[in-house]
Amino acid sequence: MPILGAHMSIAGGYEKAVDRAAQIGCDCLQIFTKPTTQWHAPPIYPDQACRFQQALQKYQLRHPYGHDSYLVNLASPKKSLWKKSIDAFVEELHRAERLGLRWLVFHPGAYVEGAAAEGIQRVIAALKEVFHQTEDLKVGGLVETTAGQGTMLGHCFEHLAEILAHCPTPERMGVCFDTCHVFAAGYPLWPRHAWEHTFQEFERIVGLGQIRAFHLNDSVRPCGSRVDRHAHIGQGEVGLAPFRWLLQDPRFQHVPMYLETPKGVRPDGQDWDQYNLALLRQLSEENM
Ligand SMILES: [Zn+2]
Repeated sequence: MPILGAHMSIAGGYEKAVDRAAQIGCDCLQIFTKPTTQWHAPPIYPDQACRFQQALQKYQLRHPYGHDSYLVNLASPKKSLWKKSIDAFVEELHRAERLGLRWLVFHPGAYVEGAAAEGIQRVIAALKEVFHQTEDLKVGGLVETTAGQGTMLGHCFEHLAEILAHCPTPERMGVCFDTCHVFAAGYPLWPRHAWEHTFQEFERIVGLGQIRAFHLNDSVRPCGSRVDRHAHIGQGEVGLAPFRWLLQDPRFQHVPMYLETPKGVRPDGQDWDQYNLALLRQLSEENM
């Protein structure tokens, strides 16, 4: 049985994210530790972290992961923004640690100008500094596969491999594999032989063992579009079959999988996350 959950809002308190996740039937959840459009947020007090942990225990929710803010750009060619991003990422790791999150998912960043290779070198240098400054923490970072919109790095498996290869503390780094992003980046997920080839390529270049999380999203835009637009499961260009293959793959049964599909209520009145989770569970049990 795969471990399934969703990204949840922290509106009203961290424990509220857990309450909501439990209500819709999550096994695991991902949160932002602060508003994603702000550089700074008030500190997390011990009682807030305690209520969050108590809620996790109450509902037996596992794998609470964090996702960093969208302002952070570890690949920025602007020295001031690059430094600000390092400071913000260090702060986010501290917030995640305080809440007891094991991993913080982050995007490699956008190189904006010049060559992609230079951007990757800036990401590597930034991560060296970040991990050096946080060597007393347990929480690690998961670099996410991206759709490669604009100058965003991480749409080639080679980008991830290079970032991982230069991380000074490999035990604190891994990968978050987003199905929408990988597909939009140009790696096909169907038909079956193409799905297998994509995962063979990931194994060869990065290593499947590096995958510590999946983001389960369908894609509004086609394979190779390099546009990042999440669709509900089975309602985009990916379709249902690749999710069935992924959910039934024995190699990924221990890797938590999080929905990041649009929130809201379906025309039939059902919560979208609840619907998508039920659909994923059904796919995980269907005969192929
Ligand atoms: Zn994602």
